[in-house]
Amino acid sequence: RLNLENFTKCFDGTPVIEGLNLTVEDGEMLALLGPSGCGKSTTLLSVCGIYRADGGRILFGGRDVSALPSQRRNVGVVFQNYALYPHLTVEENIAFPLTVQKPRPSAAEIARQVREIAELIHIDALLGRRPAQLSGGQQQRVALARALVRKPDVLLLDEPLANLDAKLRLEMRSEIRRIQLETGITAILVTHDQVEAMSMCDRVAIMDKGEILQIDSPTQMYRSPANRFVAGFLGNPP
Ligand code: ATP
Ligand code: MG
Repeated sequence: RLNLENFTKCFDGTPVIEGLNLTVEDGEMLALLGPSGCGKSTTLLSVCGIYRADGGRILFGGRDVSALPSQRRNVGVVFQNYALYPHLTVEENIAFPLTVQKPRPSAAEIARQVREIAELIHIDALLGRRPAQLSGGQQQRVALARALVRKPDVLLLDEPLANLDAKLRLEMRSEIRRIQLETGITAILVTHDQVEAMSMCDRVAIMDKGEILQIDSPTQMYRSPANRFVAGFLGNPP
């Protein structure tokens, strides 16, 4: 379970997010949905520890991780640009988070874990290639495998589908959801695409100007939007 308690984040002394409370249940995939600039990425980067909170607490399974740097929080992150290491093979990219782990697992153990996640994500045939030799969808699968190989407490996805063409985006929506369900991992998906949020997630949190306006299951949200902003933002059900 992931908790944000009274979470506050400022830039140049001005709060962008103030007193935000959010719980993501074990095994749940939650969408953080809202317009550009509302604070989605800031929230995500604070959960993963790239940003330090200016107030409040962040808890993983009840444990306060607020003071821990990113490397010491067990999170997996996928960004819009997959940020794969171009000089490493797919296998080496996926193995990377394990090779910097302390204590470092044995080479055999690393190979075993890489193979296991590669099979789950259907990229076991690509392990010898380099990122430049992969399609966008394949690169995204590799990024996902790399984020999951350490079996993180939380998976954080920031607009992971934004760089894909329409057909691939549809395919990867269901693939990401399948992988999330199969691993049972707790996940946050950041997006400004309401259809993506509604079709992939257990619950959706609608965010505007650093605040969460409503948090509900997709059906409940469509049935009774909390206010006009939410209703307008959701538009008509797909
Ligand atoms: P988008 O959908 O465009 O990615 P977002 O919801 O992810 O938007 P954030 O990136 O979290 O939005 O930004 C929230 C607010 O904080 C914006 O007003 C932005 O200008 C500001 N902001 C974000 N990062 C920084 C930074 N490093 N320094 C100063 N201001 C920032
Ligand atoms: Mg963003």
